[in-house]
Amino acid sequence: MNIARLKSEPEIFYSLQGEGARCGSPAVFLRLAGCNLHCSWCDTRYSWLPGCECSEEEVATRILSLNSPGLVITGGEPLLQTAALEKLLTLLPEHLFVEVETNGTLPPTPALVQRVNQWNVSPKLPHAGNNTAVAICPEVLASFASTDRAWFKFVVRGEQDWPAIAALNLPQHRIILMPCATNRAELEAARPAVADMCLQHRVRLGERMHIVLWNDKKGV
Ligand code: SF4
Repeated sequence: MNIARLKSEPEIFYSLQGEGARCGSPAVFLRLAGCNLHCSWCDTRYSWLPGCECSEEEVATRILSLNSPGLVITGGEPLLQTAALEKLLTLLPEHLFVEVETNGTLPPTPALVQRVNQWNVSPKLPHAGNNTAVAICPEVLASFASTDRAWFKFVVRGEQDWPAIAALNLPQHRIILMPCATNRAELEAARPAVADMCLQHRVRLGERMHIVLWNDKKGV
């Protein structure tokens, strides 16, 4: 499988989940290389490039050596490597809580639906600068919603983003709004407007705890 390369090493590290419904939970992070979108504010552009080719056995050994109760598979877009992901997950114990971060453009395979404990689906709104026909796939989002294991995280800039979210008809209790920010100063400035949106539309406010803790540092 192809792992994003950070400082010439494959990006596998132990940290705390910084976003979503399990924010604060300890987890190993595995960042896969390659993405089918190119968001203007992407904070992991290096993951767009070809990374390190590693066997699934090597990756499983590294994950297990970090002795974590959880695994967060992120990218890039992890579902570009579904066959490798399916194989990797057969090498890991069932008690490991597995989350997958995805942009929601590629459907999960049945084997992944069966094993993945939580999908963190983050559809990209028009302000990310992608072709909307590629970035927003209602049928794929519906397939994630039908698993009952998906949360839908939206990076938002303000109330003007709400109509595009509402049009997707996602389960309201599974929607999380997060401020658009890549560092602490941007996060502090953006949070109040997003809190107002959450109150107005009765959805959850998502923290970006890795920015609060580590600002814009990578690999943490
Ligand atoms: S989908 Fe995620 S990894 Fe891909 S460009 Fe957008 S923010 Fe970056």
